[in-house]
Amino acid sequence: MKTMEKMKQSYTKEVQEYVDAVYEAVKKRNPNEEEFLQAVKEVFDSLIPVLAKNPQYIKQAILERIVEPERLISFRVPWVDDQGNVQVNRGFRVQFNSAIGPYKGGLRFHPSVNASIIKFLGFEQIFKNSLTGQPIGGGKGGSDFDPKGKSDAEIMRFTQSFMSELSRYIGPDIDVPAGDIGVGAREIGYMFGQYKKMRGGYEAGVLTGKGIGYGGSLARKEATGYGTVYFVEEMLKDKGLRFKDSVVTVSGSGNVSIYAMEKAMQLGAKVVACSDSGGYIYDKNGINLDTVKRLKEIENKRISEYVKEHPEALYFEGCTDIWSIPCDIALPCATQNEIDEQSAKLLVSNGVKAVGEGANMPSTLEAIEVFLDQDVLFGPAKAANAGGVSVSALEMAQNSMRLSWTFEEVDAKLHEIMKNIYRESVKAAEEYDAPGNLVVGANIAGFVKVADAMIVQGII
Ligand code: NAP
Repeated sequence: MKTMEKMKQSYTKEVQEYVDAVYEAVKKRNPNEEEFLQAVKEVFDSLIPVLAKNPQYIKQAILERIVEPERLISFRVPWVDDQGNVQVNRGFRVQFNSAIGPYKGGLRFHPSVNASIIKFLGFEQIFKNSLTGQPIGGGKGGSDFDPKGKSDAEIMRFTQSFMSELSRYIGPDIDVPAGDIGVGAREIGYMFGQYKKMRGGYEAGVLTGKGIGYGGSLARKEATGYGTVYFVEEMLKDKGLRFKDSVVTVSGSGNVSIYAMEKAMQLGAKVVACSDSGGYIYDKNGINLDTVKRLKEIENKRISEYVKEHPEALYFEGCTDIWSIPCDIALPCATQNEIDEQSAKLLVSNGVKAVGEGANMPSTLEAIEVFLDQDVLFGPAKAANAGGVSVSALEMAQNSMRLSWTFEEVDAKLHEIMKNIYRESVKAAEEYDAPGNLVVGANIAGFVKVADAMIVQGII
């Protein structure tokens, strides 16, 4: 007779084979969608113990269903540039999973955008949104439009054309987009205006990340960066560490990076480096955030300009070498796959103690292995950068109630949500025999709620 342990092991082997088979089918059905497959693999690998313990998830084909978007919309976005030429871009919206609430997730405008990128982001969003504890499903969208170098009038014409089509598919109780790379307050403003015009009514809750004067939430702009730092602070606390007097490296110099830097500095850290897609700056005395904010938020300039005002700082072309700078805490806040295995090894050999993912999927699967193997505290994106969507959900709540909370109220709620996500991830990791592994913990904690909701709602 098999011992309990052997039974468990053989069952886990069967589950592993089942998961591998489902993954192979996903690969076959989505060829050339590298980023999407990477995101699916990371989640699937974490779910073996939860599937072994809960065979109803296999019987109900939750994996097979959860990897298939409920809807993937692709559309033409024609617009006229300043020279009078007609330009055509491609728009996307993936409405991935609405088991626990209306679809929710940002819009990305970047030339690299394609179906694979949008699907990886939408897939991640399902679990992230579930982790926040708020009633929001997973979605994402965007376009291969490149906002760089475009005039304000071109941005407006493009976003109006984009929203003319997108408006058919979204609404405050259906699907609520927000910003992401290349989509900030200006783009959200133009899209909100166009949506209002198309619908002939004021539906404040259709977009989040709005300006404060027309239904936006205080602390939304800061939420993702602050939230990432709050999450990392919890990881550090558990090991008797803290931000105070730590050396921090942050990639990017956009919305997430700027506010991650701000909060880390408020907690007493010295941030020595940040970047944009051209290169990175290293300021051994600590970065002057006022300069970065002015260059990036107001003047729309390259990060290389920083060294003109701070001659003691250095500028280096190219992004990946930012990870060769010795630091205690690394916060990748730019884009996907920016830390590969080699960069991860460099960070480890230079003594990094914690990595918190502000960007979505910034570490490759191999890089994550390195961090986990070397016992580096690792906060995965789904959990660590959930602060943005959490405050977006708080914006929706304020819109529904037709009231506005103060900055302090929203920030306090954000802080509590991030602590809770950390606790839930730790708990799930322990429950499923992977103590300290927050990749497993966050994936499982996010998955279970969605899977249970899918089961009770029937085969739809
Ligand atoms: P953003 O304001 O547009 O800033 C993006 C930053 O990353 C910029 O400094 C940009 O440099 C750099 N970057 C973009 N693509 C790059 C590339 N391929 N290689 C190197 N650097 C690159 O965008 P964001 O809102 O901060 O988003 C950053 C990351 O956080 C993304 O992964 C996004 O999905 C994730 N995220 C954002 C939110 C949110 O609330 N905004 C929430 C959760 C997760 P350039 O200016 O030179 O392009």
